Amino acid sequence: MKYISTRGQAPELTFEEAMLTGLARDGGLYVPAEIPTMSKDEIAALAGLSYEEVAFRVMRPFIGDCFSDDEFRAIIGRAYESFGHAARAPMVQLAPNHFLMELFHGPTLAFKDFAMQLIGQLFETALKRRGDSVTIVGATSGDTGSAAIQAFGGLEAVNVFILYPHGRVSEVQRRQMTTPSDANVHALAVDGDFDDCQAALKDMFNDFDFRDEVKLAGVNSINFARVLAQVVYYFFSAVSLGAPERKLSFTVPTGNFGDIFAGFIAKQMGLPIDKLVVATNQNDILHRCLSGQGYHKGDTIPSISPSMDIQVSSNFERALFYAYNQDGAAVAQLMEELKSGGFEVSQGAMQALQEHYVSGRCSEEETSATIASEYKASGELLCPHSAIGVKVANELRDPAVPMVTLATAHPAKFPAAVEAASDVHPPLPPRMADLYDKPERVTRIANDLAALESHIREQIAN
Ligand SMILES: *Cc1c(COP(=O)(O)O)cnc(C)c1O
Repeated sequence: MKYISTRGQAPELTFEEAMLTGLARDGGLYVPAEIPTMSKDEIAALAGLSYEEVAFRVMRPFIGDCFSDDEFRAIIGRAYESFGHAARAPMVQLAPNHFLMELFHGPTLAFKDFAMQLIGQLFETALKRRGDSVTIVGATSGDTGSAAIQAFGGLEAVNVFILYPHGRVSEVQRRQMTTPSDANVHALAVDGDFDDCQAALKDMFNDFDFRDEVKLAGVNSINFARVLAQVVYYFFSAVSLGAPERKLSFTVPTGNFGDIFAGFIAKQMGLPIDKLVVATNQNDILHRCLSGQGYHKGDTIPSISPSMDIQVSSNFERALFYAYNQDGAAVAQLMEELKSGGFEVSQGAMQALQEHYVSGRCSEEETSATIASEYKASGELLCPHSAIGVKVANELRDPAVPMVTLATAHPAKFPAAVEAASDVHPPLPPRMADLYDKPERVTRIANDLAALESHIREQIAN
């Protein structure tokens, strides 16, 4: 199994190499040269299996011979043992033919745990075998950083530094980053906003001396191993609702397009998915694009669903790659145009996109109203991101086709917005009730490349 770049100019890599590399050298994103398929019988045989066994069978064809079967099973086992729910991704019913898949039972209460926990174990196994180690630096608006710190804490082959904007993440998110006591994970509160953190990260990757010296690696959502981990729960939920005999649809609250792109992979593998519904907040570049208005950057407006406050959606490049019939040169051209603000999608590519994806947008008022109305209707308390999914799903779903809406975070991760909308205070799950009592460990740091690099150098040397 080989991996190729969406821009067509980078060397082909194995799964393990693509995972450790992250971004391709030509600036593109790695995708499998060919998407493996599962037969109807193989899909049917997934019904009733544990999440871990489904994960093994769905992901196995993508990893080639990078990990042995025993090794891969053990990795999956360790990845999901810290989840607080035996089903890992349980479903509840909201209304006739409308289901909510709860992806928030992991250690940081957001769906990013599914991928980050797995990638932590994959990195550790691969690096130990190579006798190597890396320094992972990430920038976060909240969920990715907390998931990474929880997933990599205590591992031997990795040091992790997470840059977050000082004073601009929720208290739960901050504490999930600052309370782990493992010596190899470090929370850095940067004096700046999320864009400053991302820019600093980019500058570090472009400082080749520093990059080589500390063996810099990334785990942001463009890493294909993260996308792959998310393919699993599409299969897991679909077979419990009658696939492959019955088709179904999914609605996904979307920012960087990683989670919903995993649904596209599942569909290409043979899962009978009718529609993939992209749900955006007021930062609606994806909705505008899928409605035929081209892909044009706007200003990011802060919302009560901060994990979706994105104007350039990095994994959308993968969707474009398939819509343009895997023409890397065409994708590279679009990405060049994006540098100066945006691009138009060709008619053929637009048709290809609309064959798989439909989209809707949800305003701030509608998000709050949905949290309140869904609590009344079904008793389910939604986080703002999940509420956006439910609102758009209700608008666009075909009552005759089962709809699964992905609940991407636990309401207790965004308590202020949830309480303001519903008058209900969402408590943390009992297993995390001590989060507010644990001591915090964080370094406040200037938004300055030299300061960041010397801090990271010092910490690694310790
Ligand atoms: C990251 C995140 C999203 C968006 O997911 P993408 O894969 O970036 O589209 C939605 N909801 C929550 C809670 C998140 O943390």
